[in-house]
Amino acid sequence: MNVENVGEIRALVLDDNTFARKFAVRALTSAGVAAVVEAASGSEAISILSRATNAVHLIFCDLLMPDMDGVEFVRHAATLAIVPTFVFVSGADQALLNTAEDMARARGLEVLGSIQKPISVDAVRRILTKLHDAAPQSHDAGRASITPAHIEDALNKKQILLHFQPKVSLTDGALVGFEALARWQHPDFGLIPPGAFITLAEESGQIAALTDYLAVLAMEQCAAWNHVGLHAKISVNLSAYMLVDLDLPDRMEMTTRRVDIRPGQIVLEITESGLFRDAATALDILARLHMKGFPLSIDDFGTGYSSMEQLRRVPFSEMKIDRAFVRGAAESSRARMILKSSADLGRNLGMSVVAEGAETIEDWKTLGDTGVDIVQGYFVAKPMAVEQVESWWRRVGDRRLGLA
Ligand code: C2E
Ligand code: CA
Ligand code: CA
Repeated sequence: MNVENVGEIRALVLDDNTFARKFAVRALTSAGVAAVVEAASGSEAISILSRATNAVHLIFCDLLMPDMDGVEFVRHAATLAIVPTFVFVSGADQALLNTAEDMARARGLEVLGSIQKPISVDAVRRILTKLHDAAPQSHDAGRASITPAHIEDALNKKQILLHFQPKVSLTDGALVGFEALARWQHPDFGLIPPGAFITLAEESGQIAALTDYLAVLAMEQCAAWNHVGLHAKISVNLSAYMLVDLDLPDRMEMTTRRVDIRPGQIVLEITESGLFRDAATALDILARLHMKGFPLSIDDFGTGYSSMEQLRRVPFSEMKIDRAFVRGAAESSRARMILKSSADLGRNLGMSVVAEGAETIEDWKTLGDTGVDIVQGYFVAKPMAVEQVESWWRRVGDRRLGLA
């Protein structure tokens, strides 16, 4: 959705209950939404959306409706040429709202979130603040045409670089470290996110060259920051495809020696899914990285399979709970319970526990009683270029971030 301003948004309220519908219209209007249309049934909404004039940007969709329920409506709406961004509204339990959100996303639709009935102006305002984050720049033009030759070229021309996102302590807001995230600074397409080229690099066998290049960059940056007094751990993402290369631990260690940092400053994040294509080799590499002093982190925890098995055999010192469990935890007691139980497990295994994807003050507050130690997410800061990190750090410095 390409609307910068709440005052330009046209919204559709779909609810069979007249009172609830009027209530929602009033809340939306009070929150500054430009125009609000109403539909009392799914079929009425479909006919409004099918008319090309006066495109609707945002739809507030009730779930429980007699003729066509909200889930069926999403199924139909997904086939339309232009589909608005969804917000689900229901008096039903949050678990059902979460299912609806995931279902709509799985159908390729944009979802801002969900609101419990009755709708308040505050809840609408809160949802609308997510609009800017929900519409990332599209790189489809670049992505469609990316080939291994382009990646090769990008590496040669040093167009691939790192952005850094802070990780801070939940108890006192202190800076713990940064996660290094790959970005491709493309001369025509601008900044291309890793989703557009990492998988391709994995498939084309270029991930080793890319990872080596980025690990060196991260370690050099770590050393440079040490020199100016910014002592932080740097987390590097290690694709599971790298766990077939028996020389990796020696190469990593050699680079730390060359740039003069301790391996303990470089955390290696490994996504749990697909860890063990070749178990003997993967465990060989992970054991040796650990012995050399590199902390190992299990990334996207909770989304892969056989994660318990991996926790048993790999000496992880950090658990990063996937943002799927952080998003919406404020409203969902189920997500909160998963967070809590994961954090308990991590702590009992002597790991530090990181929650990723904390986007709002509610997320931050909710994490407070889950036993999580460290938080990463847009609420603290988005991933930043080196210069931005330095000015961010000068601003917040060693002073606690004032978040706790
Ligand atoms: P990841 O390891 O799970 O990294 C965290 C991702 O979450 C980053 O996306 C980050 O920008 C995003 N993020 C952080 N905070 C928030 C938040 O509050 N809300 C939301 N919605 N998102 C947040 P990014 O940079 O696009 O990276 C995507 C994935 O690409 C990474 O997921 C990682 O799996 C992969 N990746 C990135 N850099 C590298 C790399 O150098 N090597 C390898 N192998 N993979 C990389
Ligand atoms: Ca990661
Ligand atoms: Ca992750």
